[in-house]
Amino acid sequence: MKNEISIVWFRQDLRLSDNPALFEAAQFQQTLPIYIFDDCALNEFKIGAASKVWLHHSLNSLNDALDGKLNIFIGTASTVMQSLIEQYEIHTIFCNACYEPWHIKQENDVKSLCGKKNINYKIFNSSCLWNAQEILKDDEAYYKVFTPYKKRAHQYNPRKAIEKPTKINAIKNLQNKLTISSLNLIPKNTTWHTKITKSWHIGELAAQNKLFEFIKTKLAGYKYCRDFPMKNQTSLLSPHLHFGEISPAQVWQSVKKLGFQYANEKDIEHFLSEVTWREFSYYLLHHFPTLHKNNFNDKFNKFPWKNNAQYLKAWQTGNTGYPIVDAGMRQLWQTGYMHNRTRMVTASFLVKNLNIHWHKGRDWFWNCLVDADLANNSAGWQWVAGCGSDAAPYFRIFNSITQGEKFDTEGEYTRKFIPELKNMPNEYLFKPWTASKAVLNAAGVTLGENYPYPIVNLEETRNQALEAYKNLSVRKE
Ligand SMILES: Cc1cc2nc3c(=O)[nH]c(=O)nc-3n(C[C@H](O)[C@H](O)[C@H](O)COP(=O)(O)OP(=O)(O)OC[C@H]3O[C@@H](n4cnc5c(N)ncnc54)[C@H](O)[C@@H]3O)c2cc1C
Repeated sequence: MKNEISIVWFRQDLRLSDNPALFEAAQFQQTLPIYIFDDCALNEFKIGAASKVWLHHSLNSLNDALDGKLNIFIGTASTVMQSLIEQYEIHTIFCNACYEPWHIKQENDVKSLCGKKNINYKIFNSSCLWNAQEILKDDEAYYKVFTPYKKRAHQYNPRKAIEKPTKINAIKNLQNKLTISSLNLIPKNTTWHTKITKSWHIGELAAQNKLFEFIKTKLAGYKYCRDFPMKNQTSLLSPHLHFGEISPAQVWQSVKKLGFQYANEKDIEHFLSEVTWREFSYYLLHHFPTLHKNNFNDKFNKFPWKNNAQYLKAWQTGNTGYPIVDAGMRQLWQTGYMHNRTRMVTASFLVKNLNIHWHKGRDWFWNCLVDADLANNSAGWQWVAGCGSDAAPYFRIFNSITQGEKFDTEGEYTRKFIPELKNMPNEYLFKPWTASKAVLNAAGVTLGENYPYPIVNLEETRNQALEAYKNLSVRKE
């Protein structure tokens, strides 16, 4: 045990196990565990409303695990560190690396402060399986296409998860009166957030339980069932991974170790491939740090977006008149989560049928998703919009009628989130405007009153999108 004080700076690693920064910090006689809330550093990507709710509960869970010793601060990381350095005999500051540009800036500021104050600063990789700098093509360029990236990455061993420290002598800064509640992460005068908390168990233990439950009960059949929103056969680990309540290394190792007791190779491989998509998003953000703002394919910089505010509102509130789109958007609003299939369908509808810039969709998801993640959200939107690296080709436009028919075959998902349509026969559920008056009456649906008419014509808007794309392709820069 080293006879000095260390700081462990928690950020997107709100867990005790497989936390290399904490593990090393705990080797010191005393450790100051801190969390710094610095919303200003995030500029236009201030933490979204749903993420705030998650963060509140996740910090409480971490604080409980640390016997109430988590020290909360508000402000710029380097200023907070400076004041701690003045108060304590700090030997080393430990943290785990993040990938967001503003987090990297915070890291650099703290690193340079440590340099000036002659304090050690140690940073570890814990949120990715591989180091983004190491997975390169033979010519040292980075991969822009997923499959060859995955092939190369899977040739390397992913980082190994480590145990939690056996002992942490955590200290509480008694002068600091800030509490998790004083961060005001839970909105006042509304009960909206209780819907989110009812839908989830938050924290490290909940994440571990969810992983093991998934392996035991949902991994078998994952490859096929993951595409059907109502089957509820995905892991729902994304918010836990985002906040670092569980690490991808823990997920990877557990699935490799236990998966074969419950599932076949195809399901296991497919699941690990999805986890590798997460890795690829982080990899892209590392190599293309403006992924959240700039079109990866700059041909799209001249795309003639229309940005109709009324259409945007209808999309956000789940009132487009296309039931599968509306079900997805209402799931998002009510639970802070949306199934991957409907993320693709709703995103495609916004960008290709409503002709609205992917930034608008990115922002709404950012505010509403509990798993809102700069790398995954940006890569997901760029993929759907067609401007991303290895994106869906622009001409692949998800059809908001057939997607519902194909992936919500019994209509349970759609009926769950749009109860107004609960009595619509399957035949008309995804295109209620084609039903006769008698069918609509029998189902208790009055279009334009309790459920909207479609706001745009799918065929027309599809053709317009394709035309705009064609013009873009031939336009001279
Ligand atoms: C427009 C759009 C926006 C998205 N925004 C986000 C976001 O902000 N945060 C986020 O975590 N994911 C995002 N995704 C990816 C994906 O939809 C979610 O990761 C997934 O739905 C989470 O559910 P799950 O944990 O049950 O996934 P599972 O199917 O159980 O997959 C396991 C894990 O693999 C990773 N993963 C799975 N699919 C993808 C994918 N397509 N891209 C990257 N990683 C993936 C996630 O970490 C996920 O938790 C977005 C996708 C699209 C199309």
